[in-house]
Amino acid sequence: MTIFTKIAKGEIPSWKVAENDSFYAFLDINPLAPGHTLVIPKNVEDDYIFHLDEETYAGLWAFARKVALAIKAAVPCKRVGVAVLGMEVPHTHIHLVPLQTEGDLDFRKEHPVIAPERQAAIAAAILAEYEKL
Ligand code: 5GP
Repeated sequence: MTIFTKIAKGEIPSWKVAENDSFYAFLDINPLAPGHTLVIPKNVEDDYIFHLDEETYAGLWAFARKVALAIKAAVPCKRVGVAVLGMEVPHTHIHLVPLQTEGDLDFRKEHPVIAPERQAAIAAAILAEYEKL
């Protein structure tokens, strides 16, 4: 079982920002910016997004779209950027990153330190916006 499956099952804690039957979204533990979110399928552990079947692939992006709208409503930013890397965790995931500049999507830059209490508050704010959609 991957670490992200354990997170989706609640066996490992995470700052949840959205969930439905098939997909789960939570804050990245080492965010590029406040509100940096990971979106995953719950029941598919394949490590390459383009291996997903068409239904899961389309569902993942449709869910990510709603999560991005919630992030934009909850976190001050110009727009929400998207990245798919998968170089570290072998479980398909989409990064959603609130952007002020294009440099905010540079994974090599120094990551800001965000206190756990602030992460919890950001997650709660995004979840509240998601539930309005
Ligand atoms: P990638 O696989 O896309 O290259 O990077 C994996 C991402 O997952 C990184 O941004 C990393 O900070 C994040 N990550 C790795 N392990 C955990 C974890 O246990 N919890 C959370 N919330 N994020 C994680």
